[in-house]
Amino acid sequence: MIQVSGLRKLYGDTVALDGVDLHVREGEIHGVLGQSGAGKSTLLRCVNLLERPTAGTVTVAGQDLTALPSRELNRARQRIGMIHQHFALLSSRTVAGNVAFPLEVMGVPRAERARRVAELLDLVGLSGRGGDHPHQLSGGQKQRVGIARALAGNPSVLLSDEATSALDPATTRSILDLLKRLNAELGLTILLITHEMNVVKSICDSVAIMSGGRIEESGAIADLIRTP
Ligand code: ADP
Ligand code: ADP
Repeated sequence: MIQVSGLRKLYGDTVALDGVDLHVREGEIHGVLGQSGAGKSTLLRCVNLLERPTAGTVTVAGQDLTALPSRELNRARQRIGMIHQHFALLSSRTVAGNVAFPLEVMGVPRAERARRVAELLDLVGLSGRGGDHPHQLSGGQKQRVGIARALAGNPSVLLSDEATSALDPATTRSILDLLKRLNAELGLTILLITHEMNVVKSICDSVAIMSGGRIEESGAIADLIRTP
């Protein structure tokens, strides 16, 4: 579903990615684990071309994103959802307005948008909260809004950028359970980056361990992480 080959990214003299190869199979939850500065978020931003790689290719659902002209890239991006550590919600918009936002950008008509927003809020357990504003929600609820918004375009892939790092352990558990359920029910492929081994252990099928802009090891969880 996601194929990254020979990915390099330089910021001036800083080598953020130094030849990364990554393969994420359809329906899999794939983790990228590493310390701060390892290159994880650069990798994630290169996967949806928020960041243009210096070299290498990124193929998502059979489409080489690095070769697409920007107009087609925008369309392809709608099939890639992303969630963020600090949620990145629009504070002036309601919960429903946040979830509706990508649908508005896609030009989905109002009636269909309303139906879809209600369906998405239900999916993440926030039915009835559409009229609230983000400041009225807990951190876990804000992340549920982030997830609903990320799923608005019916993506085949969800990218998660430290989605539970700002949450307490119980809330982290509930968000990881939700991601696992979406993976199982929708067949959603998830690529998540984290610095927390617990996150990887609890929901990932496979993991790549990253350091210094390189992947040091990768494979099935059972092979790489041996619980004592
Ligand atoms: P991680 O997500 O694992 O913490 P990053 O991808 O954020 O790592 O960073 C990898 C390296 O690239 C670091 O040395 C970081 O300082 C550098 N870097 C990341 N983004 C930028 C940027 N926009 N400009 C300059 N250097 C950057
Ligand atoms: P904004 O003003 O921030 O754009 P809207 O109130 O226009 O937000 O709502 C965005 C979308 O969500 C619209 O399609 C609307 O029909 C739908 N919507 C609005 N309020 C709710 C709600 N309480 N529950 C579910 N859907 C809602």
